[in-house]
Amino acid sequence: MRKQIAAANWKMNLTLKQGEELLDAIMSKPHSLKENQQAVFAVPFPYLAMAQQKLAGKTNVFVAAQNCYSKKSGAYTGEVSVEMLQSLGIQFVVLGHSERREYFTESNQLLADKLNICLGYSITPIFCCGEPLHIREANTQNEYVTRQLEESLYHLTAAQVQKIVIAYEPIWAIGTGKTASSAQAQEMHAYIRQQLAGKYGQAIADSVPILYGGSVKASNAVELFTQPDVDGGLVGGASLIAEEFVAIINALK
Ligand code: PEP
Repeated sequence: MRKQIAAANWKMNLTLKQGEELLDAIMSKPHSLKENQQAVFAVPFPYLAMAQQKLAGKTNVFVAAQNCYSKKSGAYTGEVSVEMLQSLGIQFVVLGHSERREYFTESNQLLADKLNICLGYSITPIFCCGEPLHIREANTQNEYVTRQLEESLYHLTAAQVQKIVIAYEPIWAIGTGKTASSAQAQEMHAYIRQQLAGKYGQAIADSVPILYGGSVKASNAVELFTQPDVDGGLVGGASLIAEEFVAIINALK
């Protein structure tokens, strides 16, 4: 059965103490994760070890990094390697978030390299894709997302593609309070799955979790997550509020 994931993206928010308190608050509230469901916390680099320690032994709960570098090691001051993440026991990395694409000019090609290195270390990439507003307004979002998939993913083997998670995040819905309607989300998720099926076959396409991101909150999570091709969410703002994120975890179908 395909995995369903509620992934929190803390971005560059919270002090260490606030992060500890948030994880404690979330874990102290009743949350139900079935066998195929996971909660993932993408915390800032300096909090990875703290989060790993706090969540150790919790079933189906994982820590993610928000980025990594594309090289194995070396003279890359300020960067963090996948080997370092692996040495902390980190199992997920968010790649290609639209904020990284925009502010740090991450290209589809660079993301292809980052995907390769993550897969080489058995770390699961949560690969983000999605269109800006002007592309949606021109109704060319399918072509735009196809290009992101082609240029970053399509060199991967079928076995590798089965190890990734995709997050569709329409940029116009990130941090704006505007959510794609559940129909818009389902339409794009089904389209992405159809593209994967065309390239890798239906069975592989059916095994890849596709998360929706863009102003997911407790009040819209059930409707989004009950769409057949929406396998959970990548959540920014609402993941910083314990009650909200617990409700989002519990909204996984
Ligand atoms: C995100 O950070 O990936 C995101 C979708 O943010 P928000 O939920 O705040 O829109």
